[in-house]
Amino acid sequence: MLTVLHTPTLVQICLPHLRHNAQLLQQRLGPATLMAVVKADAYGHGLVPVARTLQDVGVRHFAVARVAEALALREAGVEAPILVLGVAFPEDLPVCAAQQFDVTVASPAVAEAVCTAAPRLGLLRVHVKVDTGMGRLGLWPSEVPSIVRQLAQTPAVHLVGLWTHLATADDPQDTFLYQQLERFEQLCRQFGDDFEAIHIANSSALLRLPETYWHSPRQQARVGAALYGYTSHPQLLRHVGLRPVMRMVSRVVQVRTVPPGTTISYGRTWAAPDWRRIAVVGAGYGDGVPRRLSNRGRVGIRGQQFPIVGAVCMDLLMVDLGAPDAAPDVQEGEETVLFGEGGPSIMEVAAWADTIPYELSCGVARRVPRCYQ
Ligand code: PLP
Repeated sequence: MLTVLHTPTLVQICLPHLRHNAQLLQQRLGPATLMAVVKADAYGHGLVPVARTLQDVGVRHFAVARVAEALALREAGVEAPILVLGVAFPEDLPVCAAQQFDVTVASPAVAEAVCTAAPRLGLLRVHVKVDTGMGRLGLWPSEVPSIVRQLAQTPAVHLVGLWTHLATADDPQDTFLYQQLERFEQLCRQFGDDFEAIHIANSSALLRLPETYWHSPRQQARVGAALYGYTSHPQLLRHVGLRPVMRMVSRVVQVRTVPPGTTISYGRTWAAPDWRRIAVVGAGYGDGVPRRLSNRGRVGIRGQQFPIVGAVCMDLLMVDLGAPDAAPDVQEGEETVLFGEGGPSIMEVAAWADTIPYELSCGVARRVPRCYQ
């Protein structure tokens, strides 16, 4: 497989794990509805194969960030409701109406554009988004009454959802989540009946909130990361049974024994303390391996983990296999696991790189083939 692709580095996407995760999360949601977040090419896992797999296990709602992503889903034959989480500009509204995309109303200006366009376009499905503490997109809670009234009174505007987004759900110690929940629930008590659906939870909130929180199909959870088998905090995954969907691998392209004092890579940031076996691996930041892993990351070879030494380059990185008499007899061509089974988890790599696993899976470069299993 590797040689056929003519590249040492690839990602393997395990669709059975995706299926398992979707079923497990749906079970946790009980009667509530799972909305699969497949923006950014399904967090780097591939929009269309991911959406089709999720449809096969009964997922009937999708969310993307941009209208172009919604179009790609429709073009792939996905007929389910698709919520565009980001802003739709006035010029996007005709295609949103024609394709029956769910448009987010997150500002008075978008509400105005929707109300102007809807009667002419025939029908616009909308979700009203409130900023209850994320400090990003959304109406202030005080703006909600007049905007809901305006939308409800406009012919051809279909009020589908009321939603908000959480700022701190991925910190297991955080309590701000409950303040945001309270603000949202207050709005739901006032206006919830005007909408078919309400949604607040992302993956972390879904894992943190008790299962009893989920009691009605009208409640939706917008779930991305957990479907792909990670969250930003490892504690949230404990005992849940989610499986990682993406595994990133490369190959050893050269192995050498170097004398003490040999410096490795750009900037000479690492020097061999004594005789060492150094493996050169065919992956670098041009593939999406963070340069931040220089002298701090690890990779898996033959089921063991070895430190990355020296600066990660665009196409290559170097690994210290140990002293020549103790190092495994690693051969050129051997598999190197950047993350996934046989190596560190994507969450461990993210921690070493001072980032979150989302950035790693989204950041796998275009030149890296995705192989589906
Ligand atoms: N909802 C919104 C508005 C988002 O931006 C995201 C992801 O960034 C999600 C839901 C899904 O979050 P997660 O991947 O943590 O489940």
